[in-house]
Amino acid sequence: MDYLDIFFKAFKGTINWTWRSIVFDVPWYTNYFWGLIVISIGVWCLELLFPWRKEQSMFRKDFWLDALYMFFNFFIFAIVISGVYKVLEVVFSQFGITMKSMALIDISNLPKGIQLLIFFVLLDFVQWFTHVLLHRYTLLWRFHKVHHSVKEMGFAAHLRYHWMENIFYKPLKVFAVMLLGGFEPDQAYVVHFIAITIGHLNHSNIKLTYGPLKYIFNNPVMHLYHHAYTLPKNKKYGVNFGISLSLWDYLFKTNYIPETSGKITLGYDDDYKMPKTFFKQLLYGFKKRD
Ligand SMILES: [Zn+2]
Ligand SMILES: [Zn+2]
Repeated sequence: MDYLDIFFKAFKGTINWTWRSIVFDVPWYTNYFWGLIVISIGVWCLELLFPWRKEQSMFRKDFWLDALYMFFNFFIFAIVISGVYKVLEVVFSQFGITMKSMALIDISNLPKGIQLLIFFVLLDFVQWFTHVLLHRYTLLWRFHKVHHSVKEMGFAAHLRYHWMENIFYKPLKVFAVMLLGGFEPDQAYVVHFIAITIGHLNHSNIKLTYGPLKYIFNNPVMHLYHHAYTLPKNKKYGVNFGISLSLWDYLFKTNYIPETSGKITLGYDDDYKMPKTFFKQLLYGFKKRD
């Protein structure tokens, strides 16, 4: 089979899977299409019932733009890229590099709960590290600016990010799974749904810190400061890089929560230059001056 065949087979397979998800023709616990909608409506209701910034409107600034991003990054981009990833997988395997070539630990014999925990923590750590790099290197930051262009925070801002970020996060995520010998626990969907929920909550207009669990789990108060316009002098590359877990920020001393009013200016230095429309943002970041 040539690469073009492999590409189109994967591409069509993902379109088919997405369509079957929309029409409820997949097991409910793997249905990310409706899962994302249910989690979004749930967190949105919580925002409306228990708002942190009471003056924030139901349809805050850029609500619909962010809603568009949610579906684009989760489904449209996934369809477009699936063929590319499949071809890469085949190319690597021809060089003898497979998901099993770097197996460090075999977790397949451990109890299911422990497998899921290891999978969750390892994946979260590599994403935390990638996020630090997105802030540290100008080339990556140009694309990550799209996520930081949010000026009014709400749950849907979670998935407002440039499609290039999917590509930046991929290598270390694959590496993490390779360390586990290419092993994804049967119930990995539990981890993915938990991560989506925590991510939505982190961006929501709800004052939540989970009490003493704040040292483990990322939360809306902590993540709001990740989006702060003004950063502390000694942390010019950013603070609170956590994805689902806040643990890494406390361990590596990148944590920063000076107050909890929720009323801070969001964005970054030249955020007024960010194009306002979705299609212009898709092309943003490729030019040096961006
Ligand atoms: Zn960031
Ligand atoms: Zn964010």
